[in-house]
Amino acid sequence: MLVAESIQCPHCGQFFDLFVDTSVASQQFTTDCEVCCRPFEVSAECEPGRILGLEITAN
Ligand SMILES: [Zn+2]
Repeated sequence: MLVAESIQCPHCGQFFDLFVDTSVASQQFTTDCEVCCRPFEVSAECEPGRILGLEITAN
């Protein structure tokens, strides 16, 4: 189940929606900012249908 969460890019500071698959309890992936296209790392803790926590790390 995909849930959208508003996140802030650590590079350019813009907010955009990130979709997270909440059927995975704990995950880490790299995504690109929709605005500046630079990559950063996301750690997500989820339960089905809900995002419990998101951590953004610039890399
Ligand atoms: Zn950006």
